[in-house]
Amino acid sequence: MRRRGALEGGPPTRVSILGATGSVGSTTLDVIAAAPAGMFEVVALTANDNVAALAAAARRHGAVIAAVANPARFAELAEALAGTGIEAAAGATGLAEAADRDVDCVVAAIVGAAGLSPTLLAARRAERLAIANKECFVIAGALFLAEMRSAGTEIIPVDSEHAAVHQVIDGRAPETIERVVLTASGGPFRDWSLERMQSATRADALNHPSWEMGAKITIDSATMMNKGLELIEAHHLFGVDETRLDALIHPQSLVHCLVEFCDGSLVAQLALPDMRVPIAQSLYWPARCATPGQRFDYARLSEIDFTPVDPAKFPAFALAREALRAGGAAPAVLNGANEVAVAAFLDGRIAYLDIARIVSLTLDRAHGAGLIGPPATIEAALAVDAAARDLARDVMGAI
Ligand code: NAD
Ligand code: MG
Repeated sequence: MRRRGALEGGPPTRVSILGATGSVGSTTLDVIAAAPAGMFEVVALTANDNVAALAAAARRHGAVIAAVANPARFAELAEALAGTGIEAAAGATGLAEAADRDVDCVVAAIVGAAGLSPTLLAARRAERLAIANKECFVIAGALFLAEMRSAGTEIIPVDSEHAAVHQVIDGRAPETIERVVLTASGGPFRDWSLERMQSATRADALNHPSWEMGAKITIDSATMMNKGLELIEAHHLFGVDETRLDALIHPQSLVHCLVEFCDGSLVAQLALPDMRVPIAQSLYWPARCATPGQRFDYARLSEIDFTPVDPAKFPAFALAREALRAGGAAPAVLNGANEVAVAAFLDGRIAYLDIARIVSLTLDRAHGAGLIGPPATIEAALAVDAAARDLARDVMGAI
């Protein structure tokens, strides 16, 4: 049976946050700070290498342990936590030590494939996995779900569109769902021509119109790879196949999903584009707690519009759809190549339109190299991720 949260008269919910210094991680800490007293206890916090932010958050929330992934930062972290009684840890083993704690809820907010192993470790021990890291599903979908099932871990999505779908479906069987539509803002290039995109700069791509997020997902929102990864995430979370999944561009970012049921009923979820809403939902579900923040202005309902995604303008979205259809390791290859390409674009090493080109060429080479078969284990899925990155670097050198 599910334990009762503090809202329902139970003890405080023990929470760990992997990726606590990022956009989702720090917003989660804001939601926790705004909660009524006695609602949460913070156990473990992790970060990549921002020791100052990690130590400050650990002190503010009275964490049990803080871990930084960069092993070279250990001494700095230990010093920043000296005298607090908070344990300091570093490196892959330090991250694992922090992840492997008994908690009620782990918030998985590391960006990219780097999140898979720590999330898996933490989620095996936790009662609930509040998951923002979509890469777990993209790289290891069915295998990851099987692990969660055998550990008896409840999964609550944090990604806003999936949190919306979760709320709309509310436990109904997958057979009752005819179609799931995720909305997308369309990013900064929504109204740009393909020709203009040829000269899109890093600053242009980071200038997201409605959401404030980490750099990687902001670039993915510009290319719409993010929406493609989200279709793959939705496929695994909700058991809906590719033919019944779609995305629509909705520039106002007020409607987050549309779910059509087998009786013809179409149910939408609306909220302002504020990650505190889905994060609070994932922490309190099925209860609800009053959270601060702006409320919906009904006058804006008249502005709402939806348009289909143009695959010629957003080839990354089309590639992700294809990878979902192909199945096996294709989504893992897509993701690994995209991570390499986005990092190169952020470093100024490639042009904006090269991102999708590199992903496409890497997928072709992976098909040719027989890399696309379904991985049998999570380790095999991680090996595909590593091989896809090598291929993508080769492709990048060649173009
Ligand atoms: P971010 O870049 O702001 O933060 C990432 C966090 O992960 C940081 O704490 C960073 O220190 C840590 N990290 C980065 N690389 C790491 C590594 N190699 N090892 C260990 N830790 C590492 O990212 P974000 O925008 O908060 O996104 C986090 C995840 O949530 C992504 O998977 C993203 O797709 C998903 N997501 C984010 C949003 C959003 O609003 N930001 C919305 C939906 C889903
Ligand atoms: Mg999303």
